[in-house]
Amino acid sequence: MSGQTHLPKLSIGSLGGTVSMQASANGCAVVPRLGCEELLANVPQLRELAQLEMATLGLLPSASLGFAALLDVLAWARVEVERGAQAVILTQGTDSLEETAYFLDLLWPFDAPIVMTGAMRAASQPGCDGPANLLAAVNVALAPGSRGRGVLVLMNDQVHSAARVRKTASLAMAAFESPGAGALGDVVEGVVVYRQPATRRQVLPLPQRTEHRVALLEACLDADTALLQAVATLGYEGLVIAGFGAGHVSGCWAQVLDMLVPALPVIVATRTGSGPTARATYGFAGAEIDLQGKGVHLAGQLCPRKCRILLWLLIGSGRQHLLQSLLPG
Ligand code: ASP
Repeated sequence: MSGQTHLPKLSIGSLGGTVSMQASANGCAVVPRLGCEELLANVPQLRELAQLEMATLGLLPSASLGFAALLDVLAWARVEVERGAQAVILTQGTDSLEETAYFLDLLWPFDAPIVMTGAMRAASQPGCDGPANLLAAVNVALAPGSRGRGVLVLMNDQVHSAARVRKTASLAMAAFESPGAGALGDVVEGVVVYRQPATRRQVLPLPQRTEHRVALLEACLDADTALLQAVATLGYEGLVIAGFGAGHVSGCWAQVLDMLVPALPVIVATRTGSGPTARATYGFAGAEIDLQGKGVHLAGQLCPRKCRILLWLLIGSGRQHLLQSLLPG
């Protein structure tokens, strides 16, 4: 590292996911295998761009990450920035990336960005995208325009905001989008081009409690109310419903919400994947006007999964009263 001391410092942490996966032999299924150093060994150009600190923080498929692990990752990233890293890069599986990025973004207090990336093709597959994504993530991490934007997701040469990014395809290479908003920017020949300036961010305090649980249920045709009714008795402290259309539930679910809303915060979001919930259009039982009258919060643009994370963090720091003001209209 001595010949590189003029280069900016970056810290890279790896958590597992397809980007780190390999098959043990031809024809075998892939599993997480590569630690951070092995991942970076496939992208030698990185050493010409930055002094790299590397840490293997985990080796998991991203469906098995959890809030406790993310709080540890956050603490690690904090220390790296306090020790002089200009930015932090995290690699992980793409399956839960839209949730982990938002969780970390809500808690990240620095101007130095966290850039998260992964891969759709495993490291042992022809045409694997992990090395290209890592290189582009380093370009994003080093770009002055990335400062003050919190946690960014880099996939397929597009930069997405943590609040809007979603995985919208199961296996396609272009699997990430920011529905309704579009990407924040693009990486073009190694240069990051943002489409808009950074906006003001709201950062939450660290949760004081972590044992509480927030349920997420999806409204669907002819659904009974058994699970919905059980939410309070099972000890959940908050509920998110991925509602029909513009934020609607059936008449029988609406009746159960009369009983639940006094007991715990309830958010209704849209299950459609794009667009906001309505506020003042529909007048039937279970529609947004009825739900707001009951004290239900409507999610605005925030997708159901991100709503659950926001509510969990707010409950954890005793700030449920901020919920409505943090739901983007
Ligand atoms: N398919 C996933 C990925 O893209 C697996 C995971 O999320 O760990 O990484």
